[in-house]
Amino acid sequence: MDMITLNHIKKIYRMGQERITALKDITLNFEKAKIYCLLGTSGSGKSTLLNLIAGLEKPSGGEIIFNGKHIETMSEKQLALFRQLYVGFVFQSYNLLPTLTALENVTLPLIFRRVPTKIRKKKAMEMLKAVGLENRANHKPSEMSGGQQQRVSIARAFINEPQAVFADEPTGNLDTKTTFEMMDLITGIARNRSQTLIIVTHDTEIADCADVVIHIRDGEVESIENNRK
Ligand code: ADP
Ligand code: MG
Repeated sequence: MDMITLNHIKKIYRMGQERITALKDITLNFEKAKIYCLLGTSGSGKSTLLNLIAGLEKPSGGEIIFNGKHIETMSEKQLALFRQLYVGFVFQSYNLLPTLTALENVTLPLIFRRVPTKIRKKKAMEMLKAVGLENRANHKPSEMSGGQQQRVSIARAFINEPQAVFADEPTGNLDTKTTFEMMDLITGIARNRSQTLIIVTHDTEIADCADVVIHIRDGEVESIENNRK
């Protein structure tokens, strides 16, 4: 079953007089409960593509259908609600709030959804446990290693039980050992919960963790590789 469909997506950035074509004509399908990797060199358009699918940016042309809903025509307000309800994010730089503890950072998406405090705390502790950080709940980001901070951000991405989780170079700042621990963690949670996961990377070893590898080159899909049939 297709969960996300992209039809003839284009993205052109305007910088003064210059026009930069980041995405040329992308048509793709993403199925529920599968793990995808967008693989390509720096500047190929991976982050742009991910941001469009996640409703963070708008395409210059084409359509994006997420669970039957056209997101390219949504207003900023509708997009904000769409992101709250359906998607989770993991960033290369973790993007945790420095003044909040691990537990508080994980509860944030639930605050926006007005979940009562007690339930919020309980759910956040469960998520911290799932990422192996129950003994760091009261630590601030500056009191944790990069790997631990990324675990917190993974817990935060999944706490809403989103239908899709998007990760842009999630291991870009981590050493090799931590990278593979993190990939096992994020793919394990997504598989357990039948969520769709889309990971952006330039690293072919990380791409091996995916069911489907989509090779991106110069703003176009170069090829699609099925790792598991
Ligand atoms: P990747 O994530 O694969 O490294 P990006 O999607 O970030 O690539 O960028 C694709 C192309 O679009 C690059 O040429 C980049 O310079 C350009 N680009 C990305 N974001 C912007 C922006 N906000 N304004 C202008 N050009 C941009
Ligand atoms: Mg990028």
